[in-house]
Amino acid sequence: METKNILEVWFVTGTQHLYGPETLKQVAFDSAKIASSLDKSPKIMQKVVFKPVLTTPDSITELCTEANNSKNCIGLITWMHTFSPAKMWIRSLSILNKPFLHFHTQLNRDIPWESIDMNFMNLNQSAHGDREFGFINTRMRLHRKVVVGHFEDPEAIDRIAVWIRAAAAYNDALSMKVARFGDNMRDVAVTEGNKVSAQIKMGYSVYGFGIGDLVKSVNEISPTAIKKLIAEYGDEYNLTKAVASSDTLKEAARIELGMEAFLNAGNFKAFTTTFEDLYGLKQLPGLAVQRLMAKGYGFGAEGDWKTAALVRSMKVMSMGLQGGTSFMEDYTYHFDPKGMRVLGAHMLEVCPTIALAKPTVEIHPLSIGGKEDPARLVFKTAPGNAINVSVIDLGNRFRMIVNKVEVVKCPDMPNLPVASVLWKPLPDLKRGAAAWILAGGAHHTGFSTAIDSEYLEDFAEMMGIEYILIDEKCELTSLRNELRWNEVYFHISEGIF
Ligand code: MN
Repeated sequence: METKNILEVWFVTGTQHLYGPETLKQVAFDSAKIASSLDKSPKIMQKVVFKPVLTTPDSITELCTEANNSKNCIGLITWMHTFSPAKMWIRSLSILNKPFLHFHTQLNRDIPWESIDMNFMNLNQSAHGDREFGFINTRMRLHRKVVVGHFEDPEAIDRIAVWIRAAAAYNDALSMKVARFGDNMRDVAVTEGNKVSAQIKMGYSVYGFGIGDLVKSVNEISPTAIKKLIAEYGDEYNLTKAVASSDTLKEAARIELGMEAFLNAGNFKAFTTTFEDLYGLKQLPGLAVQRLMAKGYGFGAEGDWKTAALVRSMKVMSMGLQGGTSFMEDYTYHFDPKGMRVLGAHMLEVCPTIALAKPTVEIHPLSIGGKEDPARLVFKTAPGNAINVSVIDLGNRFRMIVNKVEVVKCPDMPNLPVASVLWKPLPDLKRGAAAWILAGGAHHTGFSTAIDSEYLEDFAEMMGIEYILIDEKCELTSLRNELRWNEVYFHISEGIF
């Protein structure tokens, strides 16, 4: 999933002819300098490409059409160096189908008190030029991010860097294929949803397969390939001789190779399984799922295609950053008044990118599913900040819910043979969980120690889906009102599909 520096964000500057050729030359020079400075920032993961300064409605429309048709362009950064009358932008903004970030910046950080004159003022007037541009975006109800600050301000660059990562994930989602092995688990509601609506709104498409299709791919794996993969397990994880030589681990390796071959052949970026439908598979894919997630695939258990797609997107956003991203489930509570906690895990499928130390390969019985004992990686997660994210289908819209959490040190649990995370939700377990439940958040989530809520907020804005944040400031009465007001907003802005 290496896409660093392949994709492009176009730096687009608006002005007009009023100022004369000399000023326009200077505008172009200054804009190129800002674009190049952003491009060189190690925080920014894709190319920032300077585009010629725009002075007429036709040139703006041409640029936006070019952006729409460009395979590598994942979004625009717009800046009005001088004053670009916003009526010039109406036609182009109405056809632009790439996300954009409005960078409200300036070439000079400080006002040159001694030398400032009217020429300087006329050249450096984004303080009002960008407000004119902002008005038309608001007037046209356009989704965008606004970042304010000098172009070398590290805090402003951080905001832009986050947005570019979200734009890369959005671009990835537009062509994302999700493979579903088996259907939903029994009567579970939250993992269901309208796949057509999801494709219209969030881009990705979901394909269903009978388990037999996967079993065929698994059965085609050669003993040599299995042997090679088990050696790889030995290099990467703690692995005893007994486990390494067991038939169970050979079977787990066969499942992993078969699954990966299947996903590669169909160009799938995410997948789901369900323990209720494993016909022909000898064990629930545990180790296989964990390792495929670590390679960048999205995953959702029990047919949860929305979470599978979300985990994939979060992995694209967090590429190369410290920390990891996994499929997760709120499993059980610690209600001790001295420190209330959530123990997160799943039956097996937690991604080793969030592991605190070298994971251990273990084989234990699974109390549900009625299959052979599955292999899995067991580990704990490093303390620090993290997020849990859920996307639900409310019938007339998708809602993304993000809860900030603090991962805390987990006591030893010698009898629990699965990977797990212990966290404290913000603002605290009682209010955090109440808010999550009021918002309708799922028991499944995308969990990440690599990215924070801002990435998801930018991503939700690009998709035009509802975004609910539960953080240290969460207050239940306000949240309940926000949810109710959003009912009205989305009913009017989106209609009922
Ligand atoms: Mn589950």
